[in-house]
Amino acid sequence: MGDTNAAEFDRARAAIPGGVNSPVRAYGSVGGTPRFLTAARGAYVTDVEGREYVDLVASWGPAILGHADGRVVRAVVDAAGRGLSFGASTPTETELAELVEQRIGPVERLRLVSTGTEATMSAIRLARGYTGRDVLVKFAGHYHGHSDGLLAEAGSGLATFALPGSAGVPASIAALTLVVPYNDPDALRAVFASHGDRIAAVIMEAAAANMGVVAPDTGFNRAVVDLAHEHGALVISDEVLTGFRVGPAGWWGLEDGTETAYTPDLMTFGKVIGGGMPVAALGGRADIMDRLAPLGPVYQAGTLSGNPVAVAAGIATLGALDSSVYRRLEEASRHISEGVSAALAEAGVPHAVQRAGNLFSFVFGDEVRAGVRDYAGAQSQEAWRYPPFFHAMLDAGVSLPPSVFEAWFVTAAHDEAAIDRVFAALPAAARAAAEA
Ligand code: PMP
Repeated sequence: MGDTNAAEFDRARAAIPGGVNSPVRAYGSVGGTPRFLTAARGAYVTDVEGREYVDLVASWGPAILGHADGRVVRAVVDAAGRGLSFGASTPTETELAELVEQRIGPVERLRLVSTGTEATMSAIRLARGYTGRDVLVKFAGHYHGHSDGLLAEAGSGLATFALPGSAGVPASIAALTLVVPYNDPDALRAVFASHGDRIAAVIMEAAAANMGVVAPDTGFNRAVVDLAHEHGALVISDEVLTGFRVGPAGWWGLEDGTETAYTPDLMTFGKVIGGGMPVAALGGRADIMDRLAPLGPVYQAGTLSGNPVAVAAGIATLGALDSSVYRRLEEASRHISEGVSAALAEAGVPHAVQRAGNLFSFVFGDEVRAGVRDYAGAQSQEAWRYPPFFHAMLDAGVSLPPSVFEAWFVTAAHDEAAIDRVFAALPAAARAAAEA
């Protein structure tokens, strides 16, 4: 085994395409050598060279309590001791479904899968099976995983690598996806006016966080639901990223009980629901969900779905998410985002902080000083200022998302000591962004 990140990267590239099992990990948009991690605890990750970093990736969201939280690890170890996988029903699957249904009103039934990609893919099949229609509407810059038909103009890795879509997706499948600008109800209205009777569903991120963070305008999610329902289409609200992170009932819960409250027909979850293990889910109205096999004609299945070890991590994580955790996430999020913004301002870097609950990211450049509302806006920024900023932070022991088009994630373990380390690294990083 090589004992440096560079040696590990060389070795990995000879064995694994690009040396990675998910593209953004290759540092394609920031350059340099990815860190190969060997351990993660609390707010910190450790690389193969023994260097420790304050982690603002949090496994892209799941590590909401901090890495290797004792309660979660104990639950996993206990479950593993009783068997790794049964391929049969367990009481704990029902318990996790009940925990979600108690928190999130529109979820009357929940089906567990293993990845967010599976959750959205299955939700779309279900929406098509339920409505008997084929066309799907998605928003530019929203990411819903890598299934065929969802990659057109998607954010996340695709925005990073600036690909138009993906090779290997048949044109006939891509042609069933209509891509509409985000936060533009008139554009959506126009699409419904011309294709309304063919549209099975609109899929949306409840708050976009895969083109950087771009919150929905006030009332936008409500407008999407109203328009879709006027035309007999369903709404799939994708909370894989926001679910249980921005609040106990995700983004839906932040708007519930307000003037902009909205009721999606189906919802998808991932990341936090598995607490770092592979759990994701689709849920929603009982009469729609009950169209899934074995009750209904829409097929969906999984050998490892509801895996007992993974489900134990999810139950322990959701169980630990009390109001004090969300308070700490909010504090850490405010503290760090304001500190970054102050350092950038001090160095003369024009920028804006993009926020959605405790999620945040930054856009760079004079043109975007007022913030961005859609994918075109996110793409118009001075993205080249981010790589030098990222590397200066990394050199100083702070691991940020390796792309300007990703959200920053805090955990409940980001205490004063961790935040102090971030602050210590900021002035030099902000100067690097200024000089880019
Ligand atoms: N939907 C959203 C909103 C996501 O953020 C992601 C992953 N970042 C996915 C779906 C896909 O989830 P997974 O990577 O688990 O397939």
